[in-house]
This record gives sequence, C-alpha cells and structure tokens, in this order.
Amino acid sequence: MNATMLLEVDGLSKRFGGLQAVNQVGFGIEEGQIYGLIGPNGSGKTTVMNLLTGELPADSGTARLAGDNLIGRKPHEINRRRVARTFQLVRVLGGMSVRENVMLGRLYGAEPTGKGAAMQDAEQLIEEVGLGNLAEQPAGQLTYIDQKRLELARALATRPRLLLLDEWLAGLNPTELQVGMQLIESIRDRGVTVLMVEHVMHAIRRLCDRVVVMNAGNRIAEGLPEEVLADPEVVRAYLGE
Ligand code: ADP
Repeated sequence: MNATMLLEVDGLSKRFGGLQAVNQVGFGIEEGQIYGLIGPNGSGKTTVMNLLTGELPADSGTARLAGDNLIGRKPHEINRRRVARTFQLVRVLGGMSVRENVMLGRLYGAEPTGKGAAMQDAEQLIEEVGLGNLAEQPAGQLTYIDQKRLELARALATRPRLLLLDEWLAGLNPTELQVGMQLIESIRDRGVTVLMVEHVMHAIRRLCDRVVVMNAGNRIAEGLPEEVLADPEVVRAYLGE
C-alpha cells in the first residue's frame, strides 16, 4: 500500500436491477489533496458517494481509509472513522438555529465532547464559513448560499479526515462561486482531504489536484485536471450527454 494514500478504492461495483450503475471503479486519494469525481449525468458519481458513506451497500469492491475498509459498514460507523459529506440537496434542520445545527455535528462526530466544548468549536466554525453574524438565526430562514455554508460547518464539526462534497458549488452565482471555491481551499488548508463531485469545470481546474472521470458506470480517465479534460474520450462522453 502506498503510505501517502488516505483513500484507496478498488473494484467498486453496484447494480440496480439491470443497470450496472458503478462498474469495477478504482482510484486513490492522497492525504491533503482535493480530488474531483466528474462525469456526465447518470454516470454513477452519486452512487459512488453513497457506497463510500454506507448509504448504499456495494455489490463488490473495497474502499480503504488509511487501510481500514469502509465497504460493508453502516453510515454511523463510517462517520466515526472521520468521513463526512454534504448532500446535493441541502439538509439542514430548518427549525433549529445555525449554532444548534453545527453543535449537533460536533456532538455526534468522531470525538464526542461536552456541550461547552461543542459550543466553542461551533462558534469557531460558524465564523470560519462566514456565518458569524447569523448564529442565532433559524437555519430554515437562511439564503441558499448560507445554508450551504451551514452544511459545510456542520460536516466539519464532525472533525472529518475526508470530506465528500456532492455538487456543493451547484446553484451559486459567480460571486458566490468565488467564495465557495475559497472555502473549499481553506478546508484543504486545515488538513481535510476532499473528494468532490462537481459539474463546474473551472472549479475542477482550479481546485483539484487530480480527477477521476466516470461514464456509464465505468472509470474512463484519471489524472491531472488539464490532462483528463483534454482527453478525447472524456470530451466525447460529455458531448454524448
Ligand atoms: P450521477 O451522480 O453521475 O448523475 P447516479 O449515481 O445518480 O449518477 O446514477 C447512476 C445511474 O444509476 C443512473 O442511471 C440512475 O438512474 C441510476 N440509479 C441511481 N440510484 C438508483 C436507485 N436507487 N435505483 C435505481 N437506479 C438508480
């Protein structure tokens, strides 16, 4: 095993009835990197995320986090191994305040803690993601970008080593996109490894150290963003969408 790899995925497969949604997919993510998972709609990206977080059982394959296989484990067991995710459709608890949402992440995270420490951590994270003046607001009253910030703070509150972002930048306007990209960089800079499913190509180019491309369940390319985005097979896959 390569000692610098945080996550090593190998032979990952998932079938839905007659559809091979994920077919023997493999890739490796080095600790401290931002890794992109891209491909046309329906290529199997979200299914890969769901397999990695235990939300779906895999048919076969392994996903070793620092050597420890995540496949076959339940979502809470995977979360305890310091893997967190955000969802394509934001899932915050609308009736609770920003602070309460983030504290819940901390209280149910990998390193359980007391309420005082959770509160302190929550304040810091709320500040970091740019929600400093909105801590008391009910989450349901936040704007879209602020709900996204909150989702990020809540995921970070669980103290992940690996953070999975499922189209976290989707739906942001150009100004918000700049802020969003900086936030992802700051997460990487605090030592969290990131796996991001994303359609915003200039974000992939700017943020990702490496990228894996899927099409119809198969891995069709892997490498540096500029390499894979220039790969004729990748271009064909996107044009065929
Ligand atoms: P992507 O995230 O790349 O858009 P998905 O992983 O969501 O792709 O889907 C891959 C394929 O699997 C699609 O054809 C989709 O319709 C199918 N699929 C995804 N989830 C399910 C499910 N729970 N049951 C049946 N088919 C599914």
